[in-house]
Amino acid sequence: MLTRAPTYDALHDGFRWTLPEGLNMAVQVCDARAHATPEALAIIDLTDGARRDVTCGALYTLSRRVEATLRRRGVDRGDRVGVLLSQSPLCAAAHLAAWRMGAISVPLFKLFQGDALRTRLEDCGARIVVTDIDGAFLLSELGVAALVEADLTDPPTDAPPADTGPETPAVLIYTSGTTGKPKGALHGHRVLTGHLPGVEMSHDFLGQPGDVLWTPADWAWIGGLFDVLMPGLALGVPVVAARADKFTPETCAQVIREGRVRNVFFPPTALRMLKAADASLPGLRSVASGGEPLGAEMLAWGRDALDVTINEFYGQTECNMVASSCAALFDPRPGCIGRAVPGFDVAVIDEAGQPTTDEGAIAIRRGCASMLLEYWGNPQATAEKFRGDWLLTGDRGTIEGGYIRFVGREDDVITSAGYRIGPSEIEDCLLTHPAVATVGVVGKPDSLRTEIVKAYVVLKPGARASAETLQDWVKARLASYSYPREIAFLDALPMTVTGKVIRKDLKSMAAEEGA
Ligand code: ATP
Ligand code: MG
Repeated sequence: MLTRAPTYDALHDGFRWTLPEGLNMAVQVCDARAHATPEALAIIDLTDGARRDVTCGALYTLSRRVEATLRRRGVDRGDRVGVLLSQSPLCAAAHLAAWRMGAISVPLFKLFQGDALRTRLEDCGARIVVTDIDGAFLLSELGVAALVEADLTDPPTDAPPADTGPETPAVLIYTSGTTGKPKGALHGHRVLTGHLPGVEMSHDFLGQPGDVLWTPADWAWIGGLFDVLMPGLALGVPVVAARADKFTPETCAQVIREGRVRNVFFPPTALRMLKAADASLPGLRSVASGGEPLGAEMLAWGRDALDVTINEFYGQTECNMVASSCAALFDPRPGCIGRAVPGFDVAVIDEAGQPTTDEGAIAIRRGCASMLLEYWGNPQATAEKFRGDWLLTGDRGTIEGGYIRFVGREDDVITSAGYRIGPSEIEDCLLTHPAVATVGVVGKPDSLRTEIVKAYVVLKPGARASAETLQDWVKARLASYSYPREIAFLDALPMTVTGKVIRKDLKSMAAEEGA
């Protein structure tokens, strides 16, 4: 756990990773606390309408029952165990069971249909998938073994936890697929330890008396599983499980009220929906956001409507919670993703791999606890992910006095008439227009200018604005070369299951229009 320090520098400079030789995430998250404080609250289960409190002891017993059944069904150390469940105690228990026995859990989104599921299951070669009735039906069509709650007939096992260490593979998480085919990032048992400082920081020191943590994001995403569920459990902060099928401002307010939630991780999409609905959510102590740019507009809205300073953080499936803001320690700089989290050496490097003060590649030095072991079954992609001592995030940015500014993904930076333009600044600017609900900006191939800036805009229900009005809006606020020369209006933007704009789809739309 982070030792609370009076300044960011003291916090960052005084930090060292401590990774014991023997490390098992199930023990770290659950077993130790189940033995010491079995009655302590672990999960507040709101999935069934009424509130049900799941203690550490109950979660432990459930995961031991899953483990017993997995063992009986032949699962062994190193085998891949899919977890196809929405937020629920069983979802948490399934991961814990797999980790305790030295198997590798593979989180899978409930929203995945046939093809999305098939490609991932084939890629990882899952032996069995812990799921619910709908999931079992889908899996039977794919010919993959399923384990559902009704199968848990074995008594809890008391087999000793597998002899694992920080580098032993524990979890295989697929990236969001925003830029291309999702890649399987394989992580060791150290990955949770690697997330803790960032989680604590982005919640202004999570773990204060009365803290209760929730996210509307799916627990199959790194942002749900390792930024919320597992860190909450490991730090002794109760975590709310709620149905995530449909996010609306009303259900969100209800979950916060019924779960007495004080700490939330809202991806920017969720915040944009709350803002478009003029929602207000009382009683929150901390709000963290990440996964996409938050933007100055949303930061200002958070202060106004939620009465908190939203802490933006940054990371990726391959290496997470790398940078964060922390309102308890410093004022955020609008448009910046915060400062390096203790334990992470973040730099912007040039082509030669040297740190630069210009715009360059955002890179993370090897040696932090949450860095992936490898891409599953893809040594070439693993090799390409690194340059010397640095992991290349694939994102571009600058560092200004320790604050990291996100410019855009490598392939998203728009080259127009010799200028390099980051789409996020333009998106942020368009979002400040009162008629705009959400927006995606991409480069559209252009014979004269290489690319032109094209904006796809979704207006708020009932709102109106012409392309010209929006162009003038940007021209008046940003560099004249970066205004969108073309604007198209859509009913909705293409989204990944993690709620991110699928930029590759917008780009191919733009390319087709241009052809
Ligand atoms: P894929 O790698 O399959 O294309 P993805 O990169 O979206 O998908 P994730 O690992 O879920 O998959 O997302 C990590 C990426 O999200 C980062 O590399 C970065 O581009 C973006 N991101 C995360 N946090 C922020 C943030 N605060 N601001 C801007 N972008 C962010
Ligand atoms: Mg990525």
